[in-house]
Amino acid sequence: MTASMRPDDGQAQAIGSICIVGGGTAGWSAAALLSQVLRGSGCRITLVESSAIPTVGVGEATIPPIFDFLRNIGADEVEFIRRCRATFKLGIQFRDWLHHGHAYWHPFGNLGVTINQRPFHHYYCMNRAAGHGETLADLCPSVALAEDGKFAFPSPDGQWPGGAVAYALHFDAGLVAAFLRDHAVAAGVERLDRRIVGATRGEGERIAAVQFDDGESLEADFYIDCSGFRGLLIEETLGAGFEDWKHWLPCDSAVAAPTAAQEQRAPYTVATARSAGWQWRIPLQHRTGNGLVYASDFISDADAQAQLLAGLDGEAQADPRVLRFTAGLRKRAWVGNCLAIGLSAGFLEPLESTSIHLIHTGLNRLLDLFPDRRFDPALIAAYNRDVHREYAHIRDFLLLHYVPNRREGEPFWDHMRGLDLPDTLAEKIELFTRTGRIMSRQRELFSDISWFYVMHGMGLTPAALDPLAEAAPFGEVRKVIDQLRGAMQAFRSAAPTHDAILDRLLDPAETR
Ligand code: FAD
Repeated sequence: MTASMRPDDGQAQAIGSICIVGGGTAGWSAAALLSQVLRGSGCRITLVESSAIPTVGVGEATIPPIFDFLRNIGADEVEFIRRCRATFKLGIQFRDWLHHGHAYWHPFGNLGVTINQRPFHHYYCMNRAAGHGETLADLCPSVALAEDGKFAFPSPDGQWPGGAVAYALHFDAGLVAAFLRDHAVAAGVERLDRRIVGATRGEGERIAAVQFDDGESLEADFYIDCSGFRGLLIEETLGAGFEDWKHWLPCDSAVAAPTAAQEQRAPYTVATARSAGWQWRIPLQHRTGNGLVYASDFISDADAQAQLLAGLDGEAQADPRVLRFTAGLRKRAWVGNCLAIGLSAGFLEPLESTSIHLIHTGLNRLLDLFPDRRFDPALIAAYNRDVHREYAHIRDFLLLHYVPNRREGEPFWDHMRGLDLPDTLAEKIELFTRTGRIMSRQRELFSDISWFYVMHGMGLTPAALDPLAEAAPFGEVRKVIDQLRGAMQAFRSAAPTHDAILDRLLDPAETR
């Protein structure tokens, strides 16, 4: 490119300073990643947090792309697991969602193998329709391990069954923020423990400076708002607006309380449906995280607290703490020279552990669309469009857990069954129940197999299946299923327990 083809000097326009507001999981994730990517660029990164304002501190379950993030920031996985008191997560067990006494799995990882280039879920449905008794535990390695309280790392050769395992982590959110902080500070991020009382606006939709309670202020080229639900910069200063999805996802409160660590730590999250929401159980190395997510229109705080305590496996180790939220997202997560990441950008209930992932995809998207000081509106519009698409996809997936329920006579569940669905979800359910097809789009978080696990778990069955799958002689399909089942039995009996794997990892003398 010749100099004359450039609108002006790109170097002179480079972002020279970034101010991250907030030191929860979002703020320190942003600091850890940006300090890695911008090292050597001369860009100064400052993170401002107030030790007088607590973080939310309850984000404790993740999904498999957490490991991409750890790699991207250059963190050591085993050190992370040790320091953040993490356990492995093979998926989520949903209890009582379809009806009382029912349970199903949304595991990570694959089901069966592709036959004749058709996904296995068609053969799974065919097999069940023909009266055969194989369940997910016979054909999905992550479910088999989870049911046995076992764990295995995916086999590197990718061969079934070991190659079909996928996993994520449960961890202590406070320890994660400390881990990321140490990582970012070592990479040159400056940390200020100061309380911000406001921000001044510059030209247009730009922030000029943030102001501290002692009268001082800090200027930067680019601001990343990680201040939590309140959206100190994105909402209170820039008025980005909020798209409220409470009419679809009415849960707006949570109450949380830890219990002692499980004697045998389960390698999965449990989500149990309750009268006006659901209760999580997340096993960590040193304690168990518990919480009840509920719709305050359907149950009082006092009854929710009593319900949480009654549903615990042990004694609560602290008084239940109530949190409030609204499902939805900022109308614009990026405005001018300010980008919201984390709870300041939006929130969808933690049923599928997507919030921390949304922090990471927001940061990855920022890297893809990284601005210079001109803050090209085309970059900003592309970012905001993509965020909306991503949130809508997750919203639909969350709704799928509620809508087909058969908990008749319970006001919250009756309400959820009667919802007017977003078209995108109604179309997906119709396509599956008529044809067995799902058709997730590329770059969507939840792939066909995740949709299948939840649709199947929630009792949706297809009226017809893929004719190309049905064209395979059923005797041949049965042979494959018999082979898979045999391989699975050997695999699950040889696998070590989850505790044994953790003990080995946590022993400083051992390496994986
Ligand atoms: P916060 O944790 O609220 O941090 C805000 C930061 O801003 C703090 O450091 C605070 O000091 C600072 N701050 C605020 N105001 C000021 C000020 N005036 N001056 C200076 N500093 C300021 N996510 C998952 O992925 N998995 C889960 O299992 C999960 N479970 C959840 C359960 C519940 C009930 C809730 C509510 C959320 C859950 N989440 C989960 C979401 C997860 O907790 C958040 O995505 C994550 O913690 C990020 O929060 P944050 O950093 O955006 O905000």
